[in-house]
Amino acid sequence: MTHLEGHARLQTLLLPESLDDYVGPENPVRFIDSFVDGLDLTVAGFGRVQPKETGRPGYAPADLLKLYIYGYLNRIRSSRRLEAETHRNVEVIWLLRHLKPDFKTIADFRRDNRKAFRPMFREFVLLCRQLELFGRELLAVDGTRIKAVNNKDRNFTRASLAEFIRLADAKLDDYLQRLDTSDAAEQSAGGSRVQNLSEKIAAVRERRARCQEMLAKLERTGADQISLTDPESRAMAAHTHVAVGYNVQVAVDTKHKLIVEQQVTNQVLDMGLLTETAEPAKQILGAEQIAVVADRGYFKIEDIEACEKAGMEPYVPRPQRGPSVRAGLFRKDEFAYDAKTDTVICPGGQRLSPYSSSVLRGLKKINYVNKQACRDCPLRSRCTNNSFRYLSRMENEAVLDRMQARLALRPQVLAQRRETVEHPFGTIRQWMNQGAFLMRGLEKVRGEFSLTALAYNLRRVLNIVRFAELMDAVRS
Ligand code: SF4
Repeated sequence: MTHLEGHARLQTLLLPESLDDYVGPENPVRFIDSFVDGLDLTVAGFGRVQPKETGRPGYAPADLLKLYIYGYLNRIRSSRRLEAETHRNVEVIWLLRHLKPDFKTIADFRRDNRKAFRPMFREFVLLCRQLELFGRELLAVDGTRIKAVNNKDRNFTRASLAEFIRLADAKLDDYLQRLDTSDAAEQSAGGSRVQNLSEKIAAVRERRARCQEMLAKLERTGADQISLTDPESRAMAAHTHVAVGYNVQVAVDTKHKLIVEQQVTNQVLDMGLLTETAEPAKQILGAEQIAVVADRGYFKIEDIEACEKAGMEPYVPRPQRGPSVRAGLFRKDEFAYDAKTDTVICPGGQRLSPYSSSVLRGLKKINYVNKQACRDCPLRSRCTNNSFRYLSRMENEAVLDRMQARLALRPQVLAQRRETVEHPFGTIRQWMNQGAFLMRGLEKVRGEFSLTALAYNLRRVLNIVRFAELMDAVRS
């Protein structure tokens, strides 16, 4: 027995007659080609759609867009690697009809058209809607941190700058003291140690001045942190560690786990981003009413209220936080509000009435108290460390009561959220190997993530829908 032998390299072969024969009838490049050819690139915002009348002909934006969609779908994102594929990859050669743009042309196209990738992502969502791939019943909203082109060492907060200045001052004191003592001792021996210390002092002073400058800039602008390589990126918690990156938000339809809406921000926390992410998703799905589930990081009463007003049914679990929770006392959700009498029923079965009020973020906050009942209460040690317990409610807190009641009727929605959002994030990070952005600046990474989200959706749709059906939809 021998192993399989290939053809001799110099042997003349009867190759297929056209390049088209090398690309199978159900090859995804055929879809990419038809999809892009069906788009109105001028409306999407791509530049140079109409060729100039004079000068050297440039590449058509449609061809470069096809190259990028192919690249993101196949884990090839760098312009240099994409250029290499135009020379050696038969699918790309077919897609670009032998065109071979250089890496700079490819990179410039992504940079110059960064705002046009989002409308194109939305075009694909509309195609998915036409194919009835969305359940349009439940959206899962979540965020993840994707690393920016900015090392952690090149990001500074006010606290880290203040600490550095403090350490620099201590170091300078030490060096200056050592300089004083060395000065006299070494004068006769040529003073090499003195010179050494002087250089160290100059270096620390220079770094200290840079930190002082950055701190002054933070004070001036009111910002919390400064990033030197990508100034728009921010240090944010990513699972168990802190990384410098961007906060990527997605709204995913639970039926096939397709991304309906995505946005990238440099806001460090998810709080306040629920309606902003879910409302455009509801609009593009054309749903009258839709349920939206998110984790407790999105719990913010104003946002939940806005979500309801926009015709959505939010499901966000209440986070267990605050001084009572930290002290191991009765939690707020163990108290029940009675709207009819405007009182709160405590775990001891007593009624707490409105006692005082204040204003928080422009909303009235009412404190409910029953001092007399607390005084004789056998549960007091489990309820408060003071002589009585007060429970505060915002004036619009009925919105949270309604949400709590919905959650009690549909507890499984939280598990549904987890398994829905894990799919796109897991796929993007692991399978698509896109755990870090390549570009710098918010607008550019937004364009980048639109391509990533389109590639994720496309990969998913290719697995769900028959190829012929997909091609019919794109041609119709
Ligand atoms: S301490 Fe007051 S609020 Fe707490 S359980 Fe007793 S009566 Fe109710």
